[in-house]
Amino acid sequence: MPAAQYTSAHKRQQTADDRRRRRPADSRGRQHTADPQARRTSAKIMRYPGRPVQSIKRRRARRRRALFYRALALVLFLLFLVGVFKLTGLVYRSARSWIQSREVSSVGSKNDTDVQEAENPFPKPDITVSLLEVNRYSRPGTTLKKVKNIFVHYTANQGTSAEQNRSYFANLAETGERSASAHFVIGYNGEILQCIPLNEEAYAVKGRNDDSVSIECCYLSADGSFTSSTRASLVELLAWLCGEYDLTAEDILRHYDAGGKKCPLYYVENEDEWYRLLDEVSQYMEAAAAE
Ligand SMILES: [Zn+2]
Repeated sequence: MPAAQYTSAHKRQQTADDRRRRRPADSRGRQHTADPQARRTSAKIMRYPGRPVQSIKRRRARRRRALFYRALALVLFLLFLVGVFKLTGLVYRSARSWIQSREVSSVGSKNDTDVQEAENPFPKPDITVSLLEVNRYSRPGTTLKKVKNIFVHYTANQGTSAEQNRSYFANLAETGERSASAHFVIGYNGEILQCIPLNEEAYAVKGRNDDSVSIECCYLSADGSFTSSTRASLVELLAWLCGEYDLTAEDILRHYDAGGKKCPLYYVENEDEWYRLLDEVSQYMEAAAAE
């Protein structure tokens, strides 16, 4: 084949190939297209011959809408179920509290407003509130978050009064000689002074100031035993505090029971007397609860 002839025949062949490559056709001779969306549509046309493209698009949109409405209905139904569940709980709770309040008011003569105040079954003794100023040596102002025990102490200062012991705590703010205090001081005549509010910590029992209330007791006798007036006030105060914190006589401790310090001296050296005191508190509580 001469070179010129070869060239022109070859060129013709190449041009035909190029055209085919540029416009490839499928087996039925239809034109392929690079756009996938258009390709899918043409596949649909093949599947539903005779239907216009518009109708297929509408059909798909309708199906999508139907799916969306079905999902929406399901979500709404679930929300409805949750609502019914919550409402049932609410009705049940309010019915129960209504029944309970009727039971309480039918048992006692009290009306609904003082049911809350009647929680402590033991009467509050006479307490003179004479709070210390907040200071780092006797009233740190730290919040007392919980009360697990009530500690009983003696002042270790024979013959001093409740007021004198309160002053001693107050003066520690100036002297700073040590850290010490108690929530209450009971005098040898039975008077009760409150130095620290019950929602604050006192400096009374090392390591237990954050979960206890402390009571200091004055005394006249050299052996450290309490007068009958101090003892009587102590029993009343302990019972009331037990009622406040839902404690029993078993939760009343000597300072000695947490650390071994000989306080209150007489009730460390005479253990039987300590348990007699606790029995007295129990009996007082039983009698008051039975009233
Ligand atoms: Zn003590």
